Amino acid sequence: MADTIFSKIIRGEIPCHKVYEDAHVFAFLDIGPLSRGHTLVIPKEAAATLDQLSDESSSALGRVLPRLCRAVMKASGADAYNVLQNNGALAHQAVFHVHFHIIPKFEGQPESGLGIRWLAGKLDAAEGKQLAAQIAAAIG
Ligand code: AMP
Repeated sequence: MADTIFSKIIRGEIPCHKVYEDAHVFAFLDIGPLSRGHTLVIPKEAAATLDQLSDESSSALGRVLPRLCRAVMKASGADAYNVLQNNGALAHQAVFHVHFHIIPKFEGQPESGLGIRWLAGKLDAAEGKQLAAQIAAAIG
């Protein structure tokens, strides 16, 4: 996989405001924060998208992510937060190294944090039954 700016940050070749590091995971402040405390949590493994990540890195990320959410909430004084994880350019991914955004939300600051356009449809029962079976069968 091509080297990304996040691999350079992990190696210390590009500066960052680091908040956490262990054998598999690295976390630092987003350089273009959507709100105060916006933090990125990344695996050290250079996978482009979440579906390509190893079980080992995935479990290490899952283990520490809630702890980092608690820390961001505590330090920023946020009232709520979003965890965002984009995969593919179509889904707004700009850096092709897996990353989770922790994005705080503050009362009285509707313009800060993540804005979401959620155009909900309605799940057809028959299609839902078929689709759920297809997804279940595709799980490796
Ligand atoms: P995404 O659209 O999910 O790929 O988000 C990539 C994020 O990486 C954006 O929020 C950027 O602000 C952030 N970013 C890019 N370069 C850096 C950097 N050198 N240090 C910290 N954050 C960065």
